Amino acid sequence: MERVIILDFGSQYSQLIARRVREIGVYSEVLPYGTPVAELMAKAPQGIILSGGPYSVYQKDAPHPDESLFELDTPMLGICYGMQLLAHAQGGRVEKGAVREYGPATLQVKDGTNPLFQDLPKEMRVWMSHGDRVAKLPKGWTSVAHSDGAPYAAMVAKDGRRVGIQFHPEVVHTPHGADILRNFLTRFCGCRCDWSMGVFVRQATQEIKETVGDDRVILGLSGGVDSSVTAALIDHAIGRQLTAILVDNGLLRMNEVQMVRKMFGSHFEFKLVVERAADRFLDRLKGVTSPERKRKLIGHEFIKVFSESAKRVGPAKFLAQGTIYPDVIESIPVGGNPAATIKSHHNVGGLPKNLKFKLLEPLRTLFKDEVRKVGEELGLPHEMVHRQPFPGPGLAVRVLGEVTRSRLKILRQADAIVIDEMRKADLYYKVWQSFAVLVPVKTVGVMGDGRTYENLIALRVVESVDAMTADWVRLPPEVLARISNRIINEVRGVNRVCYDISSKPPATIEWE
Ligand code: GLN
Repeated sequence: MERVIILDFGSQYSQLIARRVREIGVYSEVLPYGTPVAELMAKAPQGIILSGGPYSVYQKDAPHPDESLFELDTPMLGICYGMQLLAHAQGGRVEKGAVREYGPATLQVKDGTNPLFQDLPKEMRVWMSHGDRVAKLPKGWTSVAHSDGAPYAAMVAKDGRRVGIQFHPEVVHTPHGADILRNFLTRFCGCRCDWSMGVFVRQATQEIKETVGDDRVILGLSGGVDSSVTAALIDHAIGRQLTAILVDNGLLRMNEVQMVRKMFGSHFEFKLVVERAADRFLDRLKGVTSPERKRKLIGHEFIKVFSESAKRVGPAKFLAQGTIYPDVIESIPVGGNPAATIKSHHNVGGLPKNLKFKLLEPLRTLFKDEVRKVGEELGLPHEMVHRQPFPGPGLAVRVLGEVTRSRLKILRQADAIVIDEMRKADLYYKVWQSFAVLVPVKTVGVMGDGRTYENLIALRVVESVDAMTADWVRLPPEVLARISNRIINEVRGVNRVCYDISSKPPATIEWE
């Protein structure tokens, strides 16, 4: 399988580079910049891409790769900091530029015959984000393009194997970025670019079959995209050997269990076990108001219920998890300690050791949009595969203050109305998340000439690409009006709805 490695020097765009490369049809992986060359080469990459990064190459503590990297024959593309590294390492000079370039710039291609710019215009809009620039080319390199702020905006080594570009081809603000990356992949690395989600499904299926053999697998199904697609994929490979456990913790959305049952109804073979455990969870949550405590209690109870259920299901060798690539990727905190940090998965990370399972994580190399494609490939409905994210502890994080049956009922009804109206307005799949929050405050109202003193529902609708930052959506007033109207009329115990107009940061998406 063709593979390209992206060495991460701390750029906010490293994962984006990997996604673009995959979209072009080459499987790619992000590795920390310090990965030993032997480890890199064991993966037999067709090419290596050096990412951008917040440092300056001439800084004392700037990140540098394994020295022997530059002795490799493997084709290399340096982007921004990556280009500056190539220049610096091969005897060129990098210095602070007179003008810093942040944002759009015009790239003037000097040498249109260079394979990097083949079939592309001589003048292109590109996205820049740098303060340093290459001031002197290393020996044996030539300049093939420039911009106002960068005399060498693209440089190519004489041997035709290495390229450096000062701009960012991975962002949408560089309209020809994908073409430039494709040129690198095909014309420098010799890639065929034939990787696709169909290929992934075939390979993953084969691997699961080989790994699992005749043994059995259990899986915690949450109804979310990742665990559902994991279930579908494993089912595709080994069908009946899989048992999925869905824990109904009483904190799920309206009709969630039915929805999951229906989705995995006829054309799947695996066994679905539903644990009705609402009482256990709600007993534990009695009197608890602190968000942190709520999360902890729910997490602990989940592990207990799941383990008990798994024991009843019978011996299984494997525990499947819906871990995806952003969960495992080792990231370099910008400006911070480059020691790699690995995020632990939110759901099942704490399963007790006495459940001696081997982990099966067939989606661990995929980005979210790829997981969705795999889901569709396997026949999961569009509504499922494009569902909005939902917190692990469920509605408990949206019932502020104490979580009780009656308060959950109010929120669940309000939430269902929000989803329904967002769907009808054709907005549900266009926003990142849209939901209701039950605020522990009562306010005065008047209904049918009588004074009321009832609950307040907050409506939260945000757009985001990765949940790291988010903005509130400028919903059309008619949609706001319909949601508010229906909640106040249909949900007993609510007499007021307000709209959350805070961005993240400084606010967060969930209220907790
Ligand atoms: N820090 C370097 C500069 O300012 C590289 C920036 C980048 O990679 N985006 O030029």
